[in-house]
Amino acid sequence: MTESLRRSRDVPALVARAREGDPRAVARLVSLVENGDPSLPELAAALAPHTGQAQIIGLTGSPGVGKSTITNELVRAYRAEGRRVGVLAVDPSSPFTGGAILGDRVRMQDHATDPGVYIRSMSSRGHLGGLAAATPQAVRVLEGAGCEVVLVETVGVGQAEVEVASLADTTLVLLAPGMGDAIQAVKAGILEVADVFVVNKADRDGVDATYHDIQGMIGLGERGPGDWRPQVVRSVAVRGEGIDGVVAAIAKHRAWLEEHGELQPRRERRAAVEVEEIALGTLRVRIGYLREGTELQALAAQVAQGALDPYAAAAALLKSLDRSGPLDQPVPLDGG
Ligand code: GDP
Repeated sequence: MTESLRRSRDVPALVARAREGDPRAVARLVSLVENGDPSLPELAAALAPHTGQAQIIGLTGSPGVGKSTITNELVRAYRAEGRRVGVLAVDPSSPFTGGAILGDRVRMQDHATDPGVYIRSMSSRGHLGGLAAATPQAVRVLEGAGCEVVLVETVGVGQAEVEVASLADTTLVLLAPGMGDAIQAVKAGILEVADVFVVNKADRDGVDATYHDIQGMIGLGERGPGDWRPQVVRSVAVRGEGIDGVVAAIAKHRAWLEEHGELQPRRERRAAVEVEEIALGTLRVRIGYLREGTELQALAAQVAQGALDPYAAAAALLKSLDRSGPLDQPVPLDGG
């Protein structure tokens, strides 16, 4: 990569090059998103006309369950259909590791030379609103670069991962026999967000038990007559077995969304989260955290001494924001 491109903040030029399919421009744009660069509002504006059409598929599941292997196979399947594919591997729980660990973890060498595939990893780093706000921006970059399918893979099954994976048109939850995944899934609130369960490592003992556990849990869920019933499919991803079934389940869910008029509301909910996170992030910067000389610091001192109650302090803080200038300038940078 040329040095100028690696450091570039020339958003119109980067977007133009990304749209021409230059992978280095795509990589640079995702880095800008990841780092919460000040150019983000401009970047989002430049990408907006080219976004909103891609099919977004979220994947979550415990480490080692086979997410990268399945992602790799899904890329192969969608490429065989002639669709351009983006993969975003997201690590919400680690703000500091950057892409390095994920980069090692994501074994996508099969597609490394395919110009119809973009693969990027991302952590939360400096992005205000964290990955709930950053992930949709990175998806927009991939869409802007012409991806028709974007796979968003998270590293684990914690709350943050589930939140990120659920910002998709279709959310896949991967399980494997003997990992206690079914119980974990309930704990992490995964049952509520899963559209498709994939019981991977179906070559292992205990696959039937896992399959029936998850079917049982789905059966207990509350659903109306017209509601989607999560599909459960099995795969042996290392051998590429069962991938057709995964692709079919995703397609079936997608068709259901369209038939029931659910695709648009889902995307609107996603956009609402995105906008809300940006707005809240901006507010946090304006409030100034606990920095010296801020209104927050002065109010906090009074609250700590019992001289003021926290609700009154919060009300005073909001009033002070009102006085301190216009609030309609989203601040993309981590102001801490
Ligand atoms: P991730 O951490 O969820 O992304 O899991 P990986 O895709 O890295 O897979 C973890 C390990 O499980 C790797 O060694 C894979 O080769 C292996 N693996 C993936 N799918 C299967 C499968 O269907 N059966 C078996 N036996 N191993 C698998």
